[in-house]
Amino acid sequence: MYRGRIAPSPTGYLHTGHARTFYTAWQRARQTKGQLVYRNEDLDALRCRSEFAAAAIHDLRQFGLDWDEGPDLINPSNPAGGPYGPYNQSERGPYYLQAWQQLFERGVIYPCPWSRADIRKYLETQEAKNGQRPMPNGGQHADSETVFPAALRSPIPTERPASNPGNTNWRLRLEYGRQIYFQDQQQGPQVFTAGIDFGDFLIWRKDGWPSYELAVVVDDAAMQITEVVRGMDLLLSTARQIILYELLHAEIPAFYHCELVTDQNGQRLAKRHASLALRNVLQQISPVEIRATLF
Ligand code: GLU
Repeated sequence: MYRGRIAPSPTGYLHTGHARTFYTAWQRARQTKGQLVYRNEDLDALRCRSEFAAAAIHDLRQFGLDWDEGPDLINPSNPAGGPYGPYNQSERGPYYLQAWQQLFERGVIYPCPWSRADIRKYLETQEAKNGQRPMPNGGQHADSETVFPAALRSPIPTERPASNPGNTNWRLRLEYGRQIYFQDQQQGPQVFTAGIDFGDFLIWRKDGWPSYELAVVVDDAAMQITEVVRGMDLLLSTARQIILYELLHAEIPAFYHCELVTDQNGQRLAKRHASLALRNVLQQISPVEIRATLF
């Protein structure tokens, strides 16, 4: 049975790029007579707002999508919105904590005192000193994401601390040089190298919540998702997530990465493109016409 998902983050109004990705997810679930899950990825308390969560559901329904499980489908006979609820990430804390425990027990994560600004500063200082960024395990990935440098790694804790992560960031210690392969259903074969394309990445945030990478793997596994449809901007994240599926002994789903929608200058859409907010476009043209412009 195909199980797909739509997983928006309520940090602003959805734009037509989201509509394209989510329509593809919906279509793939419906064509295979599978199920579609709606998951509200509301973990970032500073950026997420409940009015955007409500707007995303409203706008996608108006666009013509529907789903079989989700936070808006709660009723007395379906108290969690479906068999794998809750479907708001902010209500799934215990699942994430359990995954943190599992990774801790496996001895693959370590607490990291460095902030993003510290890491950037370290890389800049090294560059000024040596004329180049520390290689091969530090540097700048093409998408300008900072690769966490080996020199800033902390040891893996050997003694069991408290049974929770505490107020600190945790990173996954990678096996440098390891290649991650996957066959993308839309983009074809992909390969990324740990330590070059990405560094030790964040697992847990000091605000008490998991990183995006951990939360999404825990939820996709718990919700029995068989195919993840998402934007191409997340290809690198998928490589990181495959490592987590393995470490958590979870089944790796299939992946389908959609092309991104760009504006007239070739810039990929972001929530700041207010004129391309799905709700604004829906006031001018019909869902069918929107789809015709997107595909
Ligand atoms: N919530 C993420 C976003 O809106 C996407 C999650 C995913 O597809 O893995 O960018």
